[in-house]
Amino acid sequence: MTDLPEKNDFIRQIIRDDLASGKHTSIVTRFPPEPNGYLHIGHVKSICLNFGVANEFDGVCNLRFDDTNPTAEKQDYVDSIKADVAWLGFDWAGEVRYASHYFDKLYEWAVKLIEQGDAYVDLQTPEEIRENRGGFGKPSVESPQRNASVAENLARFNDMKEGKYKEGEAVLRAKIDMNHANMNMRDPVIYRVMHAHHHQTGDKWCIYPMYDYAHPLSDAIEGITHSLCTLEFEDHRPFYDWVVEKVGFDVPPRQYEFSRLNIDHTLTSKRKLKRLVDMGVVSGWDDPRMPTVAGMRRRGYPAEGLRDFCERVGISKADGVVDFRQLEFSVRNALENTTARGMAVLRPLKVTIKNFEEAVANFEALKKETVKARLTDGVLWLTQPKHPNVEMGEREIPFTKEIYIDRTDFEINPPAGYKRLSPENSEIRLRNSYILKVEECITDDRGEVSELIATIDPKTLGNNPEGRKVKGVIHWVSASHGVAAVVRMYEHLLLEDDEINVEATLHEKDVLDADTDADTLWIKQHLNPNSLTVYQAVVEPSLANVSAGDKFQFERESYFVADSVEFTKDLPVYNQIVGLKDSF
Ligand code: ATP
Ligand code: MG
Repeated sequence: MTDLPEKNDFIRQIIRDDLASGKHTSIVTRFPPEPNGYLHIGHVKSICLNFGVANEFDGVCNLRFDDTNPTAEKQDYVDSIKADVAWLGFDWAGEVRYASHYFDKLYEWAVKLIEQGDAYVDLQTPEEIRENRGGFGKPSVESPQRNASVAENLARFNDMKEGKYKEGEAVLRAKIDMNHANMNMRDPVIYRVMHAHHHQTGDKWCIYPMYDYAHPLSDAIEGITHSLCTLEFEDHRPFYDWVVEKVGFDVPPRQYEFSRLNIDHTLTSKRKLKRLVDMGVVSGWDDPRMPTVAGMRRRGYPAEGLRDFCERVGISKADGVVDFRQLEFSVRNALENTTARGMAVLRPLKVTIKNFEEAVANFEALKKETVKARLTDGVLWLTQPKHPNVEMGEREIPFTKEIYIDRTDFEINPPAGYKRLSPENSEIRLRNSYILKVEECITDDRGEVSELIATIDPKTLGNNPEGRKVKGVIHWVSASHGVAAVVRMYEHLLLEDDEINVEATLHEKDVLDADTDADTLWIKQHLNPNSLTVYQAVVEPSLANVSAGDKFQFERESYFVADSVEFTKDLPVYNQIVGLKDSF
């Protein structure tokens, strides 16, 4: 989609200036996910920015796992993140990187900070540390170990590394200013004890650096020029700068913050999405209702649509909530000219065409000249293009004595303005086929329509009916040659949206497990009971003779994808991607 103007957000301006002034001759960015969950639509924004600017300015972008928190992380998450970034269409520079591959260096530099008098081992309990940090009008209290000698600190830090402390008994803190206006500068913790197995480093370490310490130094090691992150890290920038300065880098990386992506009805927090998975309210991280990259891929959102969406949203420092329909707009745009069309009946109602045999017997002589068809073994095979763009090829649609139409296309008591079939308006065009006239309506003991008996006008294959106007076109599928299929229609997973985005901004790094009970309750209260509706549908054969992952437009319904996990040709399963019309 090329109708977008050249991007000129504040980050691209900074980069242009840095290149023009010679501050940098080439640029290096990075995308730094923590492998503690699957990537979501918020990460897509960050990926498009980091890889996007690298591409535009002939630079490179690294993929680096910020894996400093082994108890929350897993190899499965590492693998899914790599697959997602590649699927989105981006190439990282060289090998995948890991903060954990720098643990030796990070340890050396921690020793250096101790030797410089810039760090000390604190033996207070976690509660004491929190309490004594002060804030909210309360003065801070210095740790009893704050002024310990370099030798004592070196010995204690070594003991931490050697496993002589249990978790929570000792931490290494930067020695900055216990009265700093910015709480992040009140001697932040930079190393903690964690007797945990790490997915990359195994059991080599029992101390792990904190994100705020590891991240700037990893940036520096990789020669990152512009370290782009979301606004909640703005208050962490002074410490970022402090660390790279104290360790001593000639060309320090610089951090720039942009606003995070929030979308209504959508959680953009790995922790909360994990809760949905753990609660079992979705089938997994790749449930098509999930705003994860894996979920959206399975839902049938094309990568191009996601990139287009992020471009349209743009980059700024203004917090806001984007309308979900904007995402659907980009997805629909990406599908419009690339998906074959076909007919699928979601709520089948049987129609028996009593004059079928006589009507089609003479089809060749009566049809419009341009219509392509053949009559074989009593089935009239109608050839139609798969898309208005005829380059996408043709398909054959079987037309038979018994067909299905959608239940909602016939009403015994039609509401005002109803344009489809009813006892009063009994004629309609069958798409790609004849004009159909309902002659009789059979109801069951509950009074519900169970079958229609109809006729077709033999002269109307491609031709207008003589002497009357017939309004309305409906889709249909052969009852004998159609394929039974499972069709899943979706609504938002979550009903309310106001709180979602408040929650999103409350996000904090290294807070392992905030109040998960509150999360559970909140999720239960906000779940949409109608987020998934399953239809036992019937589809025309061309829609079933496809591969998992193929995408289509079911005419008059929606865009659909053949489910990547459950689809088979014998029992096709389709997921609704997005509706046909923009409701924005
Ligand atoms: P989460 O709260 O979902 O775990 P996170 O920020 O902790 O998100 P990381 O894996 O650390 O997750 O994020 C990698 C990068 O993605 C970071 O630079 C982060 O700023 C960015 N990012 C995360 N969420 C969003 C979002 N909603 N919008 C834009 N960027 C985001
Ligand atoms: Mg996080």
